[in-house]
Amino acid sequence: MTSLSDLPIRDDLRGREPYGAPQLHVRVELNVNENTHPVPDAVQADIMSRLQSAVSGVNRYPDREFTELRDALAGYLGHGLTRDNIWAANGSNEILQQLMQAFGGFGRTALGFAPTYSMYPLLAAGTGTGWVAGDRDDDFELTSERAVDWVRRVRPDLVLLCSPNNPTGTPLDLEVIEAVYDASDGIVVVDEAYAEFFPEGESSALTLLPGRERLVVSRTMSKAFAFAGVRLGYLAADPAIADALRLVRLPYHLSALTQAAALGALAHADEMLAMVEDIKRQRDRIATGLAELGFLVHRTSSNFVLFGEVENPRGVFEELLAEGIIIREMGIPNHLRVSAGTEAETTEFLDAMARYIERHGSPKRAASPSPVG
Ligand SMILES: *Cc1c(COP(=O)(O)O)cnc(C)c1O
Repeated sequence: MTSLSDLPIRDDLRGREPYGAPQLHVRVELNVNENTHPVPDAVQADIMSRLQSAVSGVNRYPDREFTELRDALAGYLGHGLTRDNIWAANGSNEILQQLMQAFGGFGRTALGFAPTYSMYPLLAAGTGTGWVAGDRDDDFELTSERAVDWVRRVRPDLVLLCSPNNPTGTPLDLEVIEAVYDASDGIVVVDEAYAEFFPEGESSALTLLPGRERLVVSRTMSKAFAFAGVRLGYLAADPAIADALRLVRLPYHLSALTQAAALGALAHADEMLAMVEDIKRQRDRIATGLAELGFLVHRTSSNFVLFGEVENPRGVFEELLAEGIIIREMGIPNHLRVSAGTEAETTEFLDAMARYIERHGSPKRAASPSPVG
């Protein structure tokens, strides 16, 4: 048996850790921001029949240009976009990887603002792109001033703006995106994986696309669409961006089955997104409930909540897991992240947290020792 370190692997990959969110199957899974609501039965039936006809043609390669899917995605996004503005891949992770392949690579740099999506540095590493982690304010907000300052110092070939930011949930003002775009001459990627959870009145960076040919808005069907298992991510941008990605993608990268399933879901977008309002309600219940228990709850525009003043994150994680509930440790000191579940799952989580507090005391008391008299 050999080990990884014995192999003639690239030096820049030596010692790196792969993406590793624990994939434990327990009763209440609130750890990777999935939509915990299943695809409605009627939509499942339509997807099945589309898959059946796709299967009858799988002796042939799929439509390499996934034209029908690009039409459907453009129709879904609106904003005057057409199929030429759209590109898709196996999850938005592959979208981001292709962007790094085309616009990053050896000797080039990508900039993000930590704490942010843990895949960015891994995708940078895999494509030989340098990764610079900028920072955020103490409450994880990102101001134009701070972002532009980083852009001027780093001169990145790519900037990754996660909006709202995972794992913190923090929304991002469009002014920050505009300021970063103006300050940079690289590709500016706005990762809107959670766009469908935006609060009323918050605008998508799609509104900024006209006239900004280096701006890319990345989306996914993994979260709001309850389609994480299918692997379908996409972007909207100037048509030249898609042309750049055609140079690095694998031929026929979107299987006929993936295309058929995604078309089925998009044909029922309203039904697929019907649970979004309920998920937002559960997210707000989590935020209120955790605040009442004394935790520090961060502002969120997504389907998850980051909370702080957790004295012993590992202890909370393990005691919840013992009750069949999994949430996420993100490596942010004294913080944990939890995804909104169904109403019943959310209640289970909040009840388990209340029991934890009964056993161990309130976080405020635990976090700040009473003054010595
Ligand atoms: C979940 C998530 C994605 C989505 O990844 P897929 O590959 O589309 O499943 C992308 N960006 C962020 C910030 C995410 O949290």
